[in-house]
Amino acid sequence: MERDSALDHDFHSAWGSVYTNHSTVGDKETLPLWEQYAVNKGAVDRKYQLLLNEYTDLFSKVLGGYYPISMHAHATDSLMPTTIASLILNTAATSPLVLDSPTLRPKADEKPEDAGLRVRNFALSLLGWDETHVLSPNFVVADNIYGAGYGPLAHTSKEWEINAIAAGPKPVVVNMREADEETLNAQFAEAKAKGCIAVVFDMVSTEDGIVMAPKKFGMIKACCARNRLLLIVDETMTAMRCGAPFAFQRPEYVREAAEYQPDFVIFGKGIGVSGIAIGFGGVITQILAYTKPEDISQTIRFWRALVSRPIRLPILLEALSILRASVKENWPEQSEQIGNAIRDVLHELDPSTRAPGAIRGIGAVITINKEVALRYRVMCASRRRSPWVRLLPKLGGATPTREELLRRVFGQDSKEQRQVLTREAELSGAIPLWCFICGIEATSKDWCRACYLSFCDNEVCVQAFHRHACV
Ligand SMILES: [Zn+2]
Ligand SMILES: [Zn+2]
Repeated sequence: MERDSALDHDFHSAWGSVYTNHSTVGDKETLPLWEQYAVNKGAVDRKYQLLLNEYTDLFSKVLGGYYPISMHAHATDSLMPTTIASLILNTAATSPLVLDSPTLRPKADEKPEDAGLRVRNFALSLLGWDETHVLSPNFVVADNIYGAGYGPLAHTSKEWEINAIAAGPKPVVVNMREADEETLNAQFAEAKAKGCIAVVFDMVSTEDGIVMAPKKFGMIKACCARNRLLLIVDETMTAMRCGAPFAFQRPEYVREAAEYQPDFVIFGKGIGVSGIAIGFGGVITQILAYTKPEDISQTIRFWRALVSRPIRLPILLEALSILRASVKENWPEQSEQIGNAIRDVLHELDPSTRAPGAIRGIGAVITINKEVALRYRVMCASRRRSPWVRLLPKLGGATPTREELLRRVFGQDSKEQRQVLTREAELSGAIPLWCFICGIEATSKDWCRACYLSFCDNEVCVQAFHRHACV
């Protein structure tokens, strides 16, 4: 009896945005809502606020006290300095420090612009900002961070195609891996003076899979606090996949400079929708004195009121189901198990991967040399010029055994499973989703029917693809 019929060699998982191959539509809390939505959309629509609140509460419970405050179509959209600046100004302006203060809070008998000016000046002094931070806010980023597909962070991309379309202020790039505390502090201070409002990094480098050292994480937090810079962790790839709800919630990180937590976390659509989550014990947010749940829901409501509806209803239903599945199937714990199972199989098949640093990442974010992925014909999240690729196996269901991984993914015997996928694709006119070489959408109709692999029309990929040895 097959324990997980959904297991195959697609470890690309739509850049990690697919967490499971199991349908999350059918959970018993959500299915009745879908059925009702099909026949009486209005009735479900009228529960929108109720469902949105349920989602917000569940998210904060599952993700260690972080609230999904701002929703965006793509994680990159949430990493805009101007969006983050407005968000923290709103969080300060609607904080108990303002609304509970007899001198600061807006009064019915004063001119609205007087109230506006007073609240704004208070927020600026609290954040240590001047007009530069308001008019041209910027980020400090780690030098090995993912250079997003577009916008300001694309300036840091190592791929020229991305770099060529970068727009917006160039982030201040800091080598956080090597800098000692004194250097880091000096660089943060200089960046803050020039208009930087936040420090952004990821716990597992998208560039080369190297994991943030716990001591370094503590040092960055302390330097952020000293310079009143927001701390933003990009968990688009790592949420639920690294043995904890967010990777920085692993015990070895929590211990370091425990009095400070990240202010914002960027999450990706793998957990239903992308956006920004806020925690109120952050380096900066803890200054704002949010302790009561009603104050927290109020500021979230104020921010969300700025857009017509933060998430469309079907997405909201799906996001709820995904969160419930993550709890029921304990994805964080499962990510450790599946990560270990895959590492063991790679060690067995290819002893060179036992060398220190040959397999990187944490849990189910597994970074390996591209050559190894090519040899075992695994589809993975890669980039054209990087020697490192990421395996992002799906969670949910039973953790695959060594035998299942060999038979369905890595071994010679995976031929049979690949044939099943080929037959299914030929019947529907589909092709394998991802370019085996560079990871972007595959386009070739001339794909390999034996291996169930395809490629894009880039010349480098076409040539490299035709060198692969079939299973
Ligand atoms: Zn390609
Ligand atoms: Zn082949």
